[in-house]
Amino acid sequence: MERAGGRELHLYDTLTRQIQPVQASDGKQVRIYCCGPTVYRDAHVGNLRTFLLSDLVTRTLNFNGFKVDLVQNITDVGHMSEDFEEDKMIAQSKSEKRDPFEIARDYEAKFHKDCATLAITRARLYPRASECIELMIDFISKLLEMKMAYQGSDGSIYFNAETAIDYGALSGNKLKALKPGHRYEYEEAGAKRFHADWALWKAAGNRKEMIWQTPWGAGFPGWHIECSAMSLKYLNNHVDLHIGGIDLRFPHHENERAQSNPMVGGEAVTLWIHGEHLLFEGRKMSKSSGNVVLIEDLIERGIDPLALRFCFMENRYRSQMDLSWDSLKAAHNFLARIRKTYSATLSSGPKVTAQVSEFIDSIVEDFLNDLDTPKAMLKLRTLERLEMSAGEKRAIFEKLEVLLGLDLLSERPMRALPDAATKLLEARIAARAAKDFELSDSLRDQLTEFGILIQDTADGQEWSWLIDL
Ligand code: AMP
Ligand code: ZN
Repeated sequence: MERAGGRELHLYDTLTRQIQPVQASDGKQVRIYCCGPTVYRDAHVGNLRTFLLSDLVTRTLNFNGFKVDLVQNITDVGHMSEDFEEDKMIAQSKSEKRDPFEIARDYEAKFHKDCATLAITRARLYPRASECIELMIDFISKLLEMKMAYQGSDGSIYFNAETAIDYGALSGNKLKALKPGHRYEYEEAGAKRFHADWALWKAAGNRKEMIWQTPWGAGFPGWHIECSAMSLKYLNNHVDLHIGGIDLRFPHHENERAQSNPMVGGEAVTLWIHGEHLLFEGRKMSKSSGNVVLIEDLIERGIDPLALRFCFMENRYRSQMDLSWDSLKAAHNFLARIRKTYSATLSSGPKVTAQVSEFIDSIVEDFLNDLDTPKAMLKLRTLERLEMSAGEKRAIFEKLEVLLGLDLLSERPMRALPDAATKLLEARIAARAAKDFELSDSLRDQLTEFGILIQDTADGQEWSWLIDL
């Protein structure tokens, strides 16, 4: 295989269950596909941890001289909800009483904004499922021709799981072990020939929105076919690196592999990389537990969103990670301290010495070693105490910026007080004047949520940010 670039990145491949080198199979660029958001709601910080994975991979490859071609899909149709047995987009459209496409475009825009806030490298292309229907119809037609798919008694088109070579190799869920009656995802009862088959195309039934005409009648695509069709089309029939959260390993990626491999007559994806899940304060992040955290929740509390990026990097992508407000505040303070100390330090300019090069090299080595970012972040934390001049330390931050994306040398202005916090401060002054201490205590608690510390002095109420900037 031809080599492009310099030192190789090694990552854990779910298929071979081994650490493998990342290579450009065409000798030119590493073709990466990252499963994107389902745009019926905001991406929470857990989703963003997975999206950051493609950024860390891209930055590491670029830093080491490899070119990257990154594609990330936007799922705006066909992702069924496990709870409601309905397309997530349609369910949200009913609850918001808004057009599903309008909702999809709004959340897609918010996804891009959140990614930019976290300095996540942009993909070359963000194809939308709803705009790739022709591709999917072509793909399904070929599977039908190859007799790997059939039309079920309900009019939907199903993939014939028994025709897949080594189904289960990715997730360990072999066909023999998949029990009839166990629901792995939403399905119509009785319409399929075999219990492990899945829908490539779903017949419209009573559905009136987000449906398309096909040779097999009106309907809408399944979720797995979307990623097969888009990844092979936009990455020229091969994916060097396929990235997603661990929950996608089965059935999403197992089924995608079964669909894509016959299309290319071999392995369509070289390496399958999965990021582990994020917990928040010890619990799974879910709407029902009420602990969904968004980027805007961080901003509201005065926490620099790049502190989230730093926290993510303090954990390895394939370990489960527990995030907390305390770790975010600690990361925020660390970044603030570095910026304060090194941004304007030196008029004489940074100094690249042998010690500087050695330090940078060891950080890069950690990234190349299966993204051992926790080790690299620990080194960054100890750098403050190392015997090196401020100019040398500044040179390290400057050189590493494209790899780290932490904006360590910027000078950030003092944060403005959000309008809502100004109103709370005024309300508290009024409450104290009226001697309503119960209300004034509750307002203090609300201000704490904004990251604002209140002190009552002889001259009245004073406030400061709880965390340093
Ligand atoms: P979705 O928008 O639900 O399709 O999910 C987008 C991505 O986020 C997928 O790659 C999921 O595997 C991933 N994901 C979902 N929940 C979490 C979590 N708690 N931590 C990390 N990644 C997650
Ligand atoms: Zn996908």
